[in-house]
Amino acid sequence: MSKYVRTIIGKVKAYAPGEQPAPGSKVIKLNTNENPYPPSPQVKLALRQIDSESLRQYPEPGADTFRRAAARVLGVDSEMIIAGNGSDELLNLLVRAYVEPGQAVAYPVPTYSLYLTLAEIQGATVIEIPFNENFELPDDLPTCGASLIFLSNPNAPTGTFIEPQAIEQLARRFDGVVVVDEAYVDFADDNCLRLVDRNRNIVVLRTFSKSYSMAGVRFGYAVAPRPIVKDLMKIKDSYNCDVVSIRLATAAIEDQAYMRRISDKIRRQRTYLTGQLEKLGFVVRPSSANFIWAQAPMRSAKTLYLTLKDRGILVRYFDKVGLRRNIRITVGLPKENKALIDALADILSELEGRR
Ligand SMILES: *Cc1c(COP(=O)(O)O)cnc(C)c1O
Repeated sequence: MSKYVRTIIGKVKAYAPGEQPAPGSKVIKLNTNENPYPPSPQVKLALRQIDSESLRQYPEPGADTFRRAAARVLGVDSEMIIAGNGSDELLNLLVRAYVEPGQAVAYPVPTYSLYLTLAEIQGATVIEIPFNENFELPDDLPTCGASLIFLSNPNAPTGTFIEPQAIEQLARRFDGVVVVDEAYVDFADDNCLRLVDRNRNIVVLRTFSKSYSMAGVRFGYAVAPRPIVKDLMKIKDSYNCDVVSIRLATAAIEDQAYMRRISDKIRRQRTYLTGQLEKLGFVVRPSSANFIWAQAPMRSAKTLYLTLKDRGILVRYFDKVGLRRNIRITVGLPKENKALIDALADILSELEGRR
């Protein structure tokens, strides 16, 4: 840290992403919820057709080509859509637009830890309300005095899902903006898109990093009431999305059939993994995402995480109060999932033998 930094920034705890091993390494990577399948063939084609000459000029400031395509696919007005450099950028814009320093951001925990970092950078107060054992919406969320509420739905890292009806009830009791972060929604049975049109304060966020298999591209979007889109447009960077990402995201969203196909495969593997983990003694929450939150059959999951890592399998372990008994496992290819289960069976029987 330099001596020049603002006091608030000095105190911020930087967001810690999952490990990214060097490209080309042979590890089985089940730790950052990336998609194990390639992006749509239409994306591959669009990438091949990009002429380097097109890089000479600035991109469309509002990514309008993408907005029109997304509006058609989603059945909403394009003025209700704003594109971002990953949905992380949109989360950032939302905090900057709707939370004065000193005002509060609220969210149920455990959840995506970037919410905390973004709130701290803004100088906001943070109200973290623990989920109950069934991971339902805390009753006091709308009345806790916050200006903005984040809900990851499905939630990370638990994979649990809150029914849209409950979210709408919350929004109606809350005088502030409710951000429904739907990064994993394509792996769930329902979503909150229909709530945007009939509520003034609900924003839905989507990303191309998970179900569209494009975490490397950095593209996400928000669907929000028109006045909110206008606010966010005002504060975003002029050219927040680049020529290449706009083209690729447009090709990707237009190929819904492909996205559905790979998401269905992941959901079937999720069922397989859940069953196998339960057989090994893990307690597993039904997941609506492309990962599984598994409670280890012993007090701490750290040994499991480290031993798996030694064997070339990366899963996510959170060294944090209340989370140390769990590992979060991204659903991978069938052979990767099988390798994980075989390794876990092996490790558990070894630990058993030593006791
Ligand atoms: C992956 C993820 C995002 C966003 O991702 P981008 O790659 O920035 O689009 C947002 N929220 C949650 C909960 C996520 O897991």
